[in-house]
Order: sequence, then C-alpha cells, then structure tokens
Amino acid sequence: MSKIQKNTVATIAYVLKNRKGEILDQAGAEEAFAYLHGHDNVVPGLEKALDGLAVGDKLSVTVSADEGYGDYDPDLVQTVEKSKFPPKMRSVKAGEMLQVDTGAGWSVVTVKEATATHIVIDGNHELAGEDLFFEVEVIALREASPEELEHGHAHGPEGHNHH
Ligand code: ZN
Repeated sequence: MSKIQKNTVATIAYVLKNRKGEILDQAGAEEAFAYLHGHDNVVPGLEKALDGLAVGDKLSVTVSADEGYGDYDPDLVQTVEKSKFPPKMRSVKAGEMLQVDTGAGWSVVTVKEATATHIVIDGNHELAGEDLFFEVEVIALREASPEELEHGHAHGPEGHNHH
C-alpha cells in the first residue's frame, strides 16, 4: 500500500479555503482525517486529486463547485408553514441547522428565515456553489479492513467509535 488507490484508507491533514482565502475547515497532522478512498467519502474533485499520492506528498488543489458540493439549487429553498413542524422545532432562528424528513429521507437544512407563521429552509449544502481550495498532506495509508469495505467508510483506531 504505497499509493492511494481504491479501497485504501488514507489519513490526510488539510486546510480548506474559499475563494476569498478564508479558512472554512482544517485538520492538522495530530487530528488528521482518515477516509476510505474510492467510496465517495470526500468530494469528487478532491478524491480525484488524491488518487495515486504517497505518504508525505503535499498538494494544492482547486475543486470547482460542480466537483465539490454541487451548484447552488434554488429549488431546494422552501417555505414551510410552522404548523407542519413539531412544536419544539417552531422556535428555530435563521442560521440554525435542522434535520428534516424531506419525504426522500432525512436531510440537514439551514434555516434562512423564520417568521411568526413560516420557516424558510435551504437544503443546499452550506458550501454549494463554492469553489474549494484545498491544501492537503498525506499522513498515512493502509489497506481497508473487510468491515470497512462493507460499510463503505473508514473506522477510527478504536474500531466502531463513529457508530
Ligand atoms: Zn462503519
């Protein structure tokens, strides 16, 4: 396992910036992020760029929105009557995140606006429409366990600590 390929568990340190150069997310070498390569656990543009890298490799990669979290879809913005929400959700404020049943499963939405009677929710990922600028360093590589392959994601050092 000397290069990142499908079914490799890769541990990466990264800094993610937006077009303005603001840091959106980061993980240093001590809290590096392990993921199972080839299973859509990271955005497609980043996964492509990491393919074939070895431990110690560093890379700056620009991922366009369509290979990142997708283009911003105005159809995912919906105005819903407050009475349709369970009572404890009716006090939400703009900027909060909610988990809602969209009919096609649970998804996380952002509250854009909350009035006395209505809540405007936005189902776009908060980074939808954004070009992403990653600086990545490969920290470690290993082969995935059969269990990880079955689950389609990497497990932490203590096994099932994420479930
Ligand atoms: Zn699992």
